Amino acid sequence: MNQDTVYLKIKRAAESDKECCLCLLEDEIERRYIDTYLLELVMDPTSRQKIIESRGFCNDHYYKMLIAATKPESPDGHGIALINRSVIDALIQDLQKLKRNRNADQLYKLVADENKCPACIHLSEFSKMYAEEIIKILSSNNEESLAVLNESKGFCVPHFVSLLCIAEGAASTDSQKAVKALIEIEEKNLRRLSSQLIEYVRKQSYEFSEKERKAVSGAMLRSLEKIAGRRGIKPLIDRKRKG
Ligand SMILES: [Zn+2]
Ligand SMILES: [Zn+2]
Repeated sequence: MNQDTVYLKIKRAAESDKECCLCLLEDEIERRYIDTYLLELVMDPTSRQKIIESRGFCNDHYYKMLIAATKPESPDGHGIALINRSVIDALIQDLQKLKRNRNADQLYKLVADENKCPACIHLSEFSKMYAEEIIKILSSNNEESLAVLNESKGFCVPHFVSLLCIAEGAASTDSQKAVKALIEIEEKNLRRLSSQLIEYVRKQSYEFSEKERKAVSGAMLRSLEKIAGRRGIKPLIDRKRKG
């Protein structure tokens, strides 16, 4: 994907009404991956080999695949059954090996976690590319693209933390400018949600009509999307700290 396309996609997501433009982009990448997988990759020998090596998808992506495969407009679950048979055959071989020798590496091989799941790997590569471009924009002096992000609804807290870590780790001296901008964008949007929640709670009183209550009902879901991020969100970087 060339840089202009990456920027245009970020711009479109930042100008949307969503609480986190990275969550929106991840949702789109994930949906496209799942559709392509079910239509094409499921029969592709290289992809088949990859899925056998990872021992399937992670829990979240397996169920998302299953839901997509059972939609009327989608091909049936035949492809998933073929994958599962190959994975199960590989697991049977793993068990044979476990009978002879057991170690932590062999046990790790049995479960497809987010470090091995092909869908997670695909998603994280694209997401990191978008995140790095966002940091680049926020470190730049390009007023037009800076305005797009400054006026956006910002990021969910998990993505905000990932972006901060990427900016702190960037070699560029301008990355501190990005850190400052990120915090300002986030604070402004958290304040917006805080006011919306105050309004939401106030309107629950009996003196307001059903229509007035409905007008503020989005605040609850919006604030949840801001705090928790999209369903199934994965950290972009390893945030585990010792001690
Ligand atoms: Zn997000
Ligand atoms: Zn996954």
